[in-house]
Amino acid sequence: MALAFQRPVGRPATASRPASRRAPALRIVSAAATAPAPSPSSSASSVPASKLIDGKGIADTIRSEIAAEVAQLKAKHNLTPGLAVVLVGARKDSETYVRSKKKACAEVGFDSYGTDLPADVSEEELLKVVAAYNADPRVHGILVQLPLPKHISEKRILDAISIEKDVDGFHPLNIGALAMRGRDPLFVPCTPKGCIELLERLKVPISGRTACVIGRSNIVGMPAALLLQRRDATVTMVHSKTPDAAKICGEADIVIAACGVAEMVKGDWIKPGAVVIDVGINAKDDPTAKKGYRLVGDVDFEAAGARASLITPVPGGVGPMTIAMLLQNTLESARRAAKH
Ligand code: NDP
Repeated sequence: MALAFQRPVGRPATASRPASRRAPALRIVSAAATAPAPSPSSSASSVPASKLIDGKGIADTIRSEIAAEVAQLKAKHNLTPGLAVVLVGARKDSETYVRSKKKACAEVGFDSYGTDLPADVSEEELLKVVAAYNADPRVHGILVQLPLPKHISEKRILDAISIEKDVDGFHPLNIGALAMRGRDPLFVPCTPKGCIELLERLKVPISGRTACVIGRSNIVGMPAALLLQRRDATVTMVHSKTPDAAKICGEADIVIAACGVAEMVKGDWIKPGAVVIDVGINAKDDPTAKKGYRLVGDVDFEAAGARASLITPVPGGVGPMTIAMLLQNTLESARRAAKH
């Protein structure tokens, strides 16, 4: 089978949507949904603007910083960062995420490469595509868009991505290094990295503070907890078997919610003055909305916002940071390549 490498995507494109290699699973509370709706930060919200963490604005700033660095890399080293995205099958949501990533690459001056494979492609063929990108010096980051069809082992494919091009930071060696003292991973997973970047850019103290991470997935909760711990927070992880999540959460100075349950974190779970980072993306029925639904996070935004000192909206909070961190990871990889 021929490898369908695309040429680098050309000119800057329009705004993109949040995306990671593992597309954020859109939890449908009841209505079907495929696209974002108005932000809770609109005029209908009772949460004052001074408490809102403007993830979109911060992500835009980061993208501008990245674009400036790309220009320097090109001028000094004649090197253009390159991101390869592999898409298997024709899921509409995956196609949208892949398009967003390519647009985001073009906006900051990266080259993007893509291989689209049919849903019935064999694992061996997919492995060959990954191997080709591993060997391609123009490519500094590789993403295989998840989910993959059931006949393909996700683990085998992800393990096959070169650790030096694992810009999602999901390779066991990268996660292992993240967990160990005295070790530094080559890449940190994009969504949790984006959460920490928000805290750091807003100068939220982390060292010595208590933090509660709700959710322990490999892609969000677990690395988020490790990142907070590396910054000397005292971290408690809450998961589906935790008996008194509300009480534990209520003791935290920093809350990162990533459980995939719409508005699960109630206002009275939040310690007054806490900083709340809501990773969740869920579609909730709303007959007043044009599309019949709106996006909500894993936190009850209005109630939690009344007690928090800072809170991320959904959408417009963590989501835009995920793709900004993907670009940052790819830039870091290209910088490393420039030093070789
Ligand atoms: P997963 O489904 O992989 O993990 C959910 C975690 O939450 C699990 O650890 C689970 O516990 C825990 N959990 C589930 N129910 C409860 C409960 N009732 N009480 C306490 N903990 C619970 O989800 P992801 O980590 O992939 O995603 C989490 C959320 O973040 C989703 O809403 C997703 O859409 C969103 N997301 C957003 C991204 C973005 O860019 N903004 C990117 C990625 C995800 P257990 O381990 O016991 O099952």
